[in-house]
Amino acid sequence: MQFKGIAINHGIAISEAMKLETIKIDTSRRTIDDPIEEVRRFRVAVHKSEEQLSRLIQSAKETFDEDTARIFEAQKMIAADIEANAMVENLINSEHVTATHAIDVVKDQYIARFEMIDDPYLRERISDIKDVTMRTLRNFLDQTIVDFASFKEHVIIVAEDINASEMVRIDPRYIRGIVLAKGGKTSHSAIIARLLGIPAVFGIKDVLSYVASGDTLVIDGSDGDVLVEPDQDVIDLYEAKILDLTSEISSLEVFRGEPTLTKDQTLVKLSANIQSESDLASVIDGDAEGIGLFRTEFLYVNRAQPPTEDEQMDAYVRVLKAMKEKPVVIRTIDIGGDKPLSYLSQPSESNPFLGKRALRLCYDHKEVFQTQLRALYRASVVGDMSIMFPMVTTLQDVLWAKDIAKGVMNDLAKEGITHKKDVPLGVMIEVPSSALIADVIARHVDFFSIGTNDLIQYTFAADRTNEDLSYLYQPLHPAILKLIRMVTDAALKHRIPVSVCGEMASDHLCAPMLLAFGVTSLSMVPSYILPMRKALHETDLNPIRKQLIDVVSSVSEEQVIEILTSIQEGEQS
Ligand code: PEP
Ligand code: MG
Repeated sequence: MQFKGIAINHGIAISEAMKLETIKIDTSRRTIDDPIEEVRRFRVAVHKSEEQLSRLIQSAKETFDEDTARIFEAQKMIAADIEANAMVENLINSEHVTATHAIDVVKDQYIARFEMIDDPYLRERISDIKDVTMRTLRNFLDQTIVDFASFKEHVIIVAEDINASEMVRIDPRYIRGIVLAKGGKTSHSAIIARLLGIPAVFGIKDVLSYVASGDTLVIDGSDGDVLVEPDQDVIDLYEAKILDLTSEISSLEVFRGEPTLTKDQTLVKLSANIQSESDLASVIDGDAEGIGLFRTEFLYVNRAQPPTEDEQMDAYVRVLKAMKEKPVVIRTIDIGGDKPLSYLSQPSESNPFLGKRALRLCYDHKEVFQTQLRALYRASVVGDMSIMFPMVTTLQDVLWAKDIAKGVMNDLAKEGITHKKDVPLGVMIEVPSSALIADVIARHVDFFSIGTNDLIQYTFAADRTNEDLSYLYQPLHPAILKLIRMVTDAALKHRIPVSVCGEMASDHLCAPMLLAFGVTSLSMVPSYILPMRKALHETDLNPIRKQLIDVVSSVSEEQVIEILTSIQEGEQS
């Protein structure tokens, strides 16, 4: 059996499938005959939850940190809550209802109580109540509960969906590949799979119905192919392909340490996108010329509260020092969208990507934003650091963020704390409104970085995580190219550098187009850097520059691709 999905990350994996099922739990009111047995099974389930959480506390301490362990400590206390558990048992005994119904009723009562509390910290425990309830319900029904960090076998995961905060817990030493029923090409889960170097294919709707745990799978993340229980000769073929890929990778070594020059001698900077210090090894291995995007919101996930100022400063200092004077662009938190946080009170929104995300959330949590900026300015003295603001939509956003940064610098000066006074401040252009007023924004910032992942989702009004809309991920569509050109023109006019840090930057057909517009640096997943350097060495930008008018006045992405491929073929012949 063979499936075709959305190709997320190149590479081939051959391994056994480990299927993770999310079975819907029926919590409707149903009566039972034997409440004593129901209570007994409920107690067993609670006991299992407590045991699992004790193990998680231990493994969080070993693998992560005390703060992460505290999340599970808080959850263990909820699981063992005597009053709540007695309420569940009373309901089962008095009304002869199923434990699943009783657990759900008590959960709702507790959530309603917590929602009335004024203390934001306690209100934020609601997500822990939901997590613990789900754990106990699953234990009651004997469903498997997975913790990605505890995987110790070589498997290909097959699941409905994995969100970004779960994805960061995956250990690439054990997880060989990922196949999901859901997910878009530029969802943050996809980006993390790429960063972890795990071959991945998303958006295969019925995959869970056709794959069983233990089946042999072959996945080709470059083409989006997934083969279930293939014949031995097919496996042999893919094993040969793995060898080819390995020798292709070693042929890139001649480009290590070399500048990135196109055939027409245009100098380009290739930087890395990272989301934590643990990515530094791949940054060095990938031969990045700097860090073009540090997605700092990942310092905030999988923990009980935001990292402190000192904790953050230490993390930024370690990154800056590891980069040894190479430029590092640190983006302030982009929380919201497909990266919600349980402990920052966020309104429940029907369209999170169109809601309080990034700077918009910082308007409500100014103290969190100020703490991050203090940590950044304190770290600035040890390296070449720039600060970048995400999701800028209006000039007002830029002026507000700069004003807070100024206030933070004034406070540090008053406190006699050393910091750089001239840290470059730039913005991400990733919302059509900011691309359209790039000319205005350029007067107030030191650099632009184009976030094509969001720019494309917002221009096409197509959720980047929705696999049904992945056909609208069209980076070379003239609508996108026109917006990019407005940004590069504005940057050129105001003499500020412009880079691209969305996934489009690592695409071999798109990158020359971006450079022809005047983009000077591209930032991408570290392992994509050396292949890009090689591709650019073989690319002459002049023929593309000559056809820019044709490209921008095309009517579809197809037409642009035709023009670019015929230029590429002309060069090769
Ligand atoms: C983007 O939107 O292109 C970008 C780089 O930011 P993120 O993917 O984190 O939203
Ligand atoms: Mg973005």
